[in-house]
Amino acid sequence: MSDLRELYQTTILDHNKKPRNFRKPDGANREANGWNPLCGDKVTVYLTVDGDGVVEEVGFQGSGCAISTASASMMTQAVKGKTLDEILEIFDRFHEMVAGPSAAEADLGALGKLSVFSGVHEYPMRVKCATLPWHTLRSAVRGDGEIAKTE
Ligand code: ZN
Repeated sequence: MSDLRELYQTTILDHNKKPRNFRKPDGANREANGWNPLCGDKVTVYLTVDGDGVVEEVGFQGSGCAISTASASMMTQAVKGKTLDEILEIFDRFHEMVAGPSAAEADLGALGKLSVFSGVHEYPMRVKCATLPWHTLRSAVRGDGEIAKTE
């Protein structure tokens, strides 16, 4: 567990300093906004979805704490090239890992690099920071035009 904790810290710091896909992609055809009033995190997630429901490009913009920024950054890497259905599955797994009642049994292997966020489960205030980009992503996937809120 201490290895994972160390990895968590270095990963968060790295992605916060150099967020990946921090931009609005060309041809973005879906977007959603998210807000976490507890921490003040704000994020906009953009998707370029092709005719087969595959996410060709994904990006985000916004301002937030290190955890929300790193979570958004790693999320964009994890979902690029996936179908919308696959993304909803990853959302469920990620949400289960950080916020679910049986987080300890979450399938960390299936989450790959995202598993560094498993430790967030111990910090309820931080759970919303880590899940905000994912809730916003889900809104963009669904295209329901609602502002994703962590409350
Ligand atoms: Zn935050």
